[in-house]
Amino acid sequence: MQRSEALTEADRLMTICNSCRYCEGLCAVFPAMEMRRAFTGGDLNYLANLCHACGACYVDCQFSPPHEFDVRVPSVLTRVRHESYADYAWPRALAPLFRRNGLAVSLIAVISMAAFVLGFVAFNDPAALFASRHGLGSFYALMPHNTMALLFGAAFLWAIIAIIMGARAFWNDIGEPSSTLTRSRPLLRAVRDAGSLRYLDGGGVGCYNEDERPRDTRRFYHHLTFWGFVLCFASTSVATLYHYLLHRDAPYPLWDLPVVLGTLGGIGIVVGPLGLYAAKRRREPAMMDGGSRGMDVAFLAMLVLTGATGLALLVLRETSTMGVLLAVHLGAVFAIFITMPYGKFVHGLYRFLALLRYARERHGA
Ligand code: SF4
Ligand code: SF4
Repeated sequence: MQRSEALTEADRLMTICNSCRYCEGLCAVFPAMEMRRAFTGGDLNYLANLCHACGACYVDCQFSPPHEFDVRVPSVLTRVRHESYADYAWPRALAPLFRRNGLAVSLIAVISMAAFVLGFVAFNDPAALFASRHGLGSFYALMPHNTMALLFGAAFLWAIIAIIMGARAFWNDIGEPSSTLTRSRPLLRAVRDAGSLRYLDGGGVGCYNEDERPRDTRRFYHHLTFWGFVLCFASTSVATLYHYLLHRDAPYPLWDLPVVLGTLGGIGIVVGPLGLYAAKRRREPAMMDGGSRGMDVAFLAMLVLTGATGLALLVLRETSTMGVLLAVHLGAVFAIFITMPYGKFVHGLYRFLALLRYARERHGA
């Protein structure tokens, strides 16, 4: 199969780096690279997904531009990484759509879903849309719980199946046996390295952004985003258990577990992505891949929209704006579900799998 331009360039850079090896202490990419003399497409995708784009190897490199070797490891590995999301996506035909027009597709999904909810309400009871409501079950006056569960359950199931199929394709392409998935030592090491974002630290000093002074802000905002997402997921899961096991309908009191988890999570997925976006805007362009920007921004924007509408819903849930806010919030959640397998979301899973392979080949023979 013919290699893409990005893979060809990554191969050239890894061959130069393999002779130089100056950066071997910075992250997992260089030790993993040193275990190989030649690089298959799967190897390069593995190395690209090990890279956390901290920028240290660009700043430290004596061959980075204006040197004629033009070594730009962070930007080239970023491009390979983003291409790998499309290469492994399932069904593959959908991937280019999201890659080229990530933000537009996500916004269309939000608007379509919100329009569907608003249309559903208007068709059944137009007055319900702008009515103020209080107490348990008021959300379901707009759309019955079972309809909501069916719609979102189907979108979530689709996302899970597509993500598993993509991860399977990645795992097969990098040539790792399935037995690695059940080995406890590499698994524990990979969980620790992924959970601490160990390689987003520029070799211990922090991430490089607009200048040569490293900082830890990207890691901080990345943690906020990740844990915000986890808390929102936990909030939805607890609310589902409340509904089916305890027969308690949303919205819940402010002190109740789904609201506490959702509020903390909502703050995380608003502040974290905004911080990451600000860092991205300040970043030295030579360390980034311009072609991947749309996909990155789409994911960050969807998270912010979901978090902001969720928090607004919490504050305004007993006012006449609740109907419209709920529709936009549901639209944003739906857009996240359907775009998850084709965009930036999968980087967490592929990076974890790359770290698992690295832990196995480096430490856990
Ligand atoms: S990035 Fe530059 S300094 Fe680092 S290993 Fe590669 S060629 Fe050497
Ligand atoms: S950008 Fe950072 S994580 Fe990526 S290869 Fe360079 S040093 Fe490693």
